[in-house]
Amino acid sequence: MDVLVTDADIVTMAAGAGLARSMLVRDDRIAAIGPAERVRAAAAPGARVVGLEGAAVIPGLIDAHCHLCNVGYLASGADCSQPAAPDIPAILARLRDAAARTPEGSWVTGSGYVEYKLHEGRHPTRADLDAAVPDRPAILFHTSLHACVLNTPALREAGFGDRQPDSPGGRFGRDGEGRLDGVVHEGPTFTLLWGGLRRDMQRMSAEQRAGLVARAGQHFAALGITAACDADTRRDSLTAYAEADERGMLGVRVGGLVVHDEADWLLGSGLRGRRSPRLAAESVKIWADGGMSSRTAAIHGSYPVPPYGSGIMYFPPDELTAMVAEFDARGLQVCIHAQGDRAIETVLDAYAAVLGGRCGNPLRHRIEHGGSMFAPLAARAAPLGIVVAAQPGMLSILGDGFAEALPERSDELYAYASWRRAGIRVAGSSDAPVITADPLVGIRDAVLRRTSSGRVLGPGERLAAQNALALYTTEAAFAMHREHDIGSLEPGKLADFVILDRNPLDTEPEQITDIRVLATAVGGQPVFQASDSPLRL
Ligand SMILES: [Zn+2]
Repeated sequence: MDVLVTDADIVTMAAGAGLARSMLVRDDRIAAIGPAERVRAAAAPGARVVGLEGAAVIPGLIDAHCHLCNVGYLASGADCSQPAAPDIPAILARLRDAAARTPEGSWVTGSGYVEYKLHEGRHPTRADLDAAVPDRPAILFHTSLHACVLNTPALREAGFGDRQPDSPGGRFGRDGEGRLDGVVHEGPTFTLLWGGLRRDMQRMSAEQRAGLVARAGQHFAALGITAACDADTRRDSLTAYAEADERGMLGVRVGGLVVHDEADWLLGSGLRGRRSPRLAAESVKIWADGGMSSRTAAIHGSYPVPPYGSGIMYFPPDELTAMVAEFDARGLQVCIHAQGDRAIETVLDAYAAVLGGRCGNPLRHRIEHGGSMFAPLAARAAPLGIVVAAQPGMLSILGDGFAEALPERSDELYAYASWRRAGIRVAGSSDAPVITADPLVGIRDAVLRRTSSGRVLGPGERLAAQNALALYTTEAAFAMHREHDIGSLEPGKLADFVILDRNPLDTEPEQITDIRVLATAVGGQPVFQASDSPLRL
């Protein structure tokens, strides 16, 4: 079946492509694109014509690093983000509501708070949570997902007592007498999130699991996203993606970055490799350090703000190098979370040890985030061919907190323009649910670099809109090893595209986030259509 998209303002993102007004979609691929007459001539008689009346078409947006399954899971709990919940009483009210609809046996779950955005300026504690949910476990995740708060029944069920020592990769908040105050930083947070998700998903039917990831996919499709890497893929989520894919419910294409300690399971599961056009798992994920918004990223020097210190490293350097060598030898793309300069340095040492003396980086091993990849580190990453998956949208949403954490070097964070000049391939992403998955926020922030207080972080690092859009299209496709199929609109590529009410390259940067997504197509099939738009794909 031929579908002829006409009267459109098409941004192809293809190198050297001229102006395009029409696009011919045949089955799941683009058959022709360019000037109207030429494309019309290529269409079969009886092709369905979709006139866009001047609306814009861009390639489907790609989120190279997010937590799609967590988005679906946490969306069923309480939204405790700011400004929706401006203070601790508002968070508690939301947890109370969530308790009423949480099935027996599951923990009451909330997420999205940032302690320095709350009126109280602190983390809620177990005593706060006990007042709202006294009689069953409740857990509240920090937006970074690198910290959480447990009430007393949850601490008990998790086996955390007051004499609990800090674990090597984590830290427990304590009151004046040394008793646990319920706040948990790093390591145990991940275990709790995944323990909860595993517990709840194992109780679900295959249909329900497929529904959970399908809903997250619908949310992404409504934002114009057609492909996403889940940077925290485990057996439960990969199984759910496969269940959704088998049922034709996986709206967006998913690339799984499988958590390193489940790589053996992946290799034995039959799920490795390109399973279908919508699902692939060919990468492993390793965490080198903590997060910037939780001030646990491993830095040289120390933080001037709580919890102070110089961050957390999860592995000694030689162990990290051994892991990279092992996964590289098994042909898996390695994606390492590294935010602080000390962590990035260690990761580059590991990559250099494994890739050194070879030609390039054929598996496209990546650094995830890379916030503090300052100039000397970027100068090392570029010749190694390391790909960076970064999150421009953090600049407006979390940038003020970053500037407090690294006051001297805040203008050098996420140095997109410098990285680009150094020749580093940078993929755009959101890290959702850490921040919104909306790629238009990331594109605007890559152009403006303005924090929520109005400060511009690193004015010299602003990107032109075309280059900002490239982060979420051609560059993210490269990071996923899928540039032959997605990332630009060209004959032969998959028909993944988004219809917008205006062209983001001709829009004032401040107004980029006002652009409306009218429809999203994956493989030529509509996966989202705005209900108030007459346009139908
Ligand atoms: Zn992440």
